[in-house]
Amino acid sequence: MLDTRLTKESRDRALARLSESSRPGRELDVLVIGGGITGAGIALDAASRGLETVVVEAQDWGAGTSSRSSKLVHGGLRYLQMLDFKLVFEALAERDLLLTTVAPHLVRPVPFLYPLRHRVWERAFVGAGIALYDVLATLRRGKRALPWHRHLSRADLDRVFPDLSARAAVGAIEYWDATVDDARYVTTLVRTAAGYGAQAATRIQVVELTKNGAGVVDGALLRDLETDRVIAVKARHVISSTGVWTEQSQALAGETGGLRVLASKGIHIVVPRDRIEGDAGLILQTKKSVLFVIPWSRYWVIGTTDTPWTEDLVNPAAHARDINYVLDEANAVLEKALTHDDIIGTWAGLRPLLQPGTKDGTASEKVSREHAVASPVPGLTVIAGGKFTTYRIMARDAVDFAL
Ligand SMILES: Cc1cc2nc3c(=O)[nH]c(=O)nc-3n(C[C@H](O)[C@H](O)[C@H](O)COP(=O)(O)OP(=O)(O)OC[C@H]3O[C@@H](n4cnc5c(N)ncnc54)[C@H](O)[C@@H]3O)c2cc1C
Repeated sequence: MLDTRLTKESRDRALARLSESSRPGRELDVLVIGGGITGAGIALDAASRGLETVVVEAQDWGAGTSSRSSKLVHGGLRYLQMLDFKLVFEALAERDLLLTTVAPHLVRPVPFLYPLRHRVWERAFVGAGIALYDVLATLRRGKRALPWHRHLSRADLDRVFPDLSARAAVGAIEYWDATVDDARYVTTLVRTAAGYGAQAATRIQVVELTKNGAGVVDGALLRDLETDRVIAVKARHVISSTGVWTEQSQALAGETGGLRVLASKGIHIVVPRDRIEGDAGLILQTKKSVLFVIPWSRYWVIGTTDTPWTEDLVNPAAHARDINYVLDEANAVLEKALTHDDIIGTWAGLRPLLQPGTKDGTASEKVSREHAVASPVPGLTVIAGGKFTTYRIMARDAVDFAL
């Protein structure tokens, strides 16, 4: 393992290597654009295959969506409602691998309660769904990383989650998922990639994708946002993993094709832990989707929402109506209603929502319902969509596609 520290010196070394890449015979194997969870995962995947890799990020590691998620490592219980068993199975396998092997020091088990309003049919229906969730998690490895779900009576709830109002739940089903400090995870992943030989630099923005005489993308022009210097880089493969910036990144090659990605905003509020009495998280069914109440250190994190966002991609913000929506949904089940005065923080993130089809009919590999890889122009691979939990699969798919 090489030195994994990310310092001014390691950044300088990365810039020196980027500059050198335009000399004949010194081109990089892979240039990764974007240092969120996807780009960090790609850098690690490519470097550990022995490819000479540099990952560049315009802001800071994880500064985009990857520090603004719900911080869950999960199979996605709600996808079971859509009968997307493959997606859930894949994410559960990743969840358990992260919990047991890849990062047990960063990914933590958390119990969640699914409150039940009806005694018989709902317990049977939801119970069957959660049992399936548990079975899917056991299929691949045959060994469980987390406890089985269990059924709770109202008397159990009074003990486990006293603040879950009696009018909102006659009982509940407890199941397990996991949480992660998303930004810390991304930084750790970049450091691991550095340990395998990848070079990494923040505050470096790709401003143009360059092409050779045959029209193949062969590198990029990068702007060092610290000095305003522009660096010309040559690479055999350029992989863009820029989340909600995907369409902008594709346009840097002067092409009109590629993946279609829209930004959908999700917000969270943070309240002190002592404001809600309970020893588990909550998953609440809403009219539009689900709302999570997640125990997070000395706080509760509550969210999220799902609204289109067409303003500044760097600084999405929680509006009053988003906050009111989250408060209303949480208060519908809590014994002691939360008020605006209880909120000590909010954050907003933008989901890179993959749209059907591609621009100009570019060939793409729709690898799952959630993420896709495409090559809008030879030499450039673009990956978008997906979720934090399945970053390793996205990284593998992107590098496979590029090669
Ligand atoms: C509200 C919300 C809740 C979520 N909750 C969960 C959850 O609980 N569990 C889960 O698994 N997933 C969750 N997700 C999904 C998950 O967070 C995202 O899928 C994931 O973080 C996207 O990562 P990314 O690396 O693709 O994009 P990003 O993290 O946005 O990274 C893209 C990076 O590219 C950089 N960039 C853009 N253009 C350039 C350029 N020209 N040059 C250099 N760099 C550039 C940006 O600065 C940015 O840092 C959630 C998402 C949201 C919005």
